[in-house]
Amino acid sequence: MRPSRIVHASAVLPQEGPAILDGAVVLGDAGGVVDVGRAGAVLPRHAGLPVEVVHGVLAPGLVNAHTHLELSWMHGLVPGGGGFVGWVDRLVTLRSEESESAVEAGLGVALDALDASCTAGVGEVSNALAAEAALVARGLAGSVFHEVFGLLEGPLLERVTSMLASFRAPGDRLARAPAPHTLYTTHPSGVRALLSFARERGLVTSIHMAEHPAERLAIERAEGPVPGWFEERVRIPRAEQFFPREPLFDYAARLGVLGPDVLLVHMTDARPDELARARDAGSKVVLCPRSNVHIEGRLPDAAAMLALGLEPALGTDSLASAGSLDVLDDARLLASTGIGAADALRMATWNGARALGRLHLGRIAAGARPGLVVAPGAPGADPAASFLSAPERRWIPGTEPS
Ligand SMILES: [Zn+2]
Repeated sequence: MRPSRIVHASAVLPQEGPAILDGAVVLGDAGGVVDVGRAGAVLPRHAGLPVEVVHGVLAPGLVNAHTHLELSWMHGLVPGGGGFVGWVDRLVTLRSEESESAVEAGLGVALDALDASCTAGVGEVSNALAAEAALVARGLAGSVFHEVFGLLEGPLLERVTSMLASFRAPGDRLARAPAPHTLYTTHPSGVRALLSFARERGLVTSIHMAEHPAERLAIERAEGPVPGWFEERVRIPRAEQFFPREPLFDYAARLGVLGPDVLLVHMTDARPDELARARDAGSKVVLCPRSNVHIEGRLPDAAAMLALGLEPALGTDSLASAGSLDVLDDARLLASTGIGAADALRMATWNGARALGRLHLGRIAAGARPGLVVAPGAPGADPAASFLSAPERRWIPGTEPS
């Protein structure tokens, strides 16, 4: 890539390495990064290029590794506080009244919000693929996880077969992968079929895992609120429910869910030994802390995950359980609980890029094309903390997704 200009900032947060005070980023024609380092070293190497001086902290575009954009029209309409089953019951009722025009309007607002928050990559979980074309049109990178659930083996496999027969990739920057919803809402034959289709094609996929205690109770003992909800609301008698009555992570391992190519989303209810097991399997974890607080009133143990060597990514989840699509709001929540600002910001950028397998995103490094974001203001003693707490941020023009 031919270098064309330099952005010289008060501080640069490359994500792969430590903060660079008085840093410079050399950009190529297409907004890709050619060189990065201390200004004193970089500027002489590229003498003669135009230099844009920025008073602020520079970071890569954000990566929101878990969202459901097609639920955006439900913003503020699904109260939490009563646990997962109460929340999802309200969501399902609302979704039965869904109109195409409301979904479209919600998507438009959501995509504008992603841009305003300087998001470059997404892991979009979708039932109807409603957001896919718009994500491609806006130049966002990442994955669309086409999510399937179903308790009854026959009808589920029929749907999976027809879905996989017409499977196609939406674009170079955006992958599509089939994804099971959860282990307690997707029959094991469906989970296996979806995972093996993704694996055969080298696709990263995603599953909601260890989100809440009702999930464990259902899988491990066929007890708790889930079996009754399926009976009353989904009309599946208990005798036809498939719960394996075995430890949650044994079941996950048996179905092939633990491994580097399946994102484990939430993990809020995972125990320390289960976190270690996920780490040992090379699993990638995605946390949605604001969503967990809204629905269950609890946070994932991000500090324990970091201590174990897991490198969690962050997602907002949908606007049915989070107040915004700004993944930095989740990073700020974790930082407020004692997670270091640099760790929290890395979760919202580079960890998300790695989770989605998009290594050109989430880091300011030669060869990457992350989109550059500036938070105006002084870098302070901890530039990552300054970036997190900055009242505004904006794209460096010419580097945003397009
Ligand atoms: Zn989700």
